[in-house]
Amino acid sequence: MRGVVMHAPGDVEVVDRPDPEILAPTDAVVRLSASCICGSDLWPWRGTDEVADPCPMGHEYVGIVERIGDDVATIKVGDFVVGSFFASDNTCEICRAGYQSRCVHAYLMGAEGTQAELARVPMADGTLVATPGLPDADLVPSLLAASDVLGTGWFAAVAAQAGPGKTVVVVGDGAVGLLGVLAARQLGAERIIAMSRHEDRQRLAVDFGATDVVEERGDVGVEQIKELTGGLGAHSTIEAVGTQESMMQAIRSTRPGGHVGYVGVSHGVELPGRELFFSSLHLHGGPAPVRRFLPQLVDLIWNRTIDPGRVFDLELPLGQAAEGYAAMDDRLAIKVLLRP
Ligand SMILES: [Zn+2]
Repeated sequence: MRGVVMHAPGDVEVVDRPDPEILAPTDAVVRLSASCICGSDLWPWRGTDEVADPCPMGHEYVGIVERIGDDVATIKVGDFVVGSFFASDNTCEICRAGYQSRCVHAYLMGAEGTQAELARVPMADGTLVATPGLPDADLVPSLLAASDVLGTGWFAAVAAQAGPGKTVVVVGDGAVGLLGVLAARQLGAERIIAMSRHEDRQRLAVDFGATDVVEERGDVGVEQIKELTGGLGAHSTIEAVGTQESMMQAIRSTRPGGHVGYVGVSHGVELPGRELFFSSLHLHGGPAPVRRFLPQLVDLIWNRTIDPGRVFDLELPLGQAAEGYAAMDDRLAIKVLLRP
């Protein structure tokens, strides 16, 4: 099969890779209908994360089940499936508590590399959710979004306790932040303030339910949030970047007793203990347990209640993956969908 590998920062290539095999009786092999490039794929692309050459890329996926192992019970050959970027058994104590991304058997799908024609999905019963039937073509991008960015934005909104009567601030205007706005709206938040400097992203944030936009960042941005919230700060803040600046912007935008849901993969973040102590905040986040939310999200997409696939503003054939990475790196695209 063909699949994307990264050789070094700024250097991805589509190469022939071995077809995935059923390695365990709980595995499935899925023929991918669509994959995509994640904001987190830009960390190695930019050289922030180390790259082992050649590194298979991609962890988001939807497609049709082609083969299953003997112990797979709920997923059938021919099913159209969406899976989380972490495979999970969905039966252990951690999974049952709703933290499938930290399952005792958690397996990062990035190790398989889903920017490819096929992917092996371990623990298929615990990882995959089948749609009610084959989706209409226009639903595929939204279902793909559920695999990571929607599930992650949703978890951030839940972790931040977005809901009725709440003012929610969203730090980060990438796909996850934008879908955090969508999630906060679905969860019933009263006011949603998107922090974004990019006009196209501001427009999508407003379409997804943002009531206000703040363009400033850092301390100036925090001052604006305070002004908009009677000097108190937000009840709920979504952090969807992962840098020191964004994390402190999120913490300082939140009122005492408020909640910060942080899902940007942390890079060099160090929290000042004394400031944190006197902030009286709830901090909750980490790799999103997307599997917890998938049945509900698939349902909302299937019924056309939400349209998270709008975050894909560039679609390319798999063979042009390098162009997609460059477009996201240059912020010419919010998120790139790849067609195998
Ligand atoms: Zn588990």
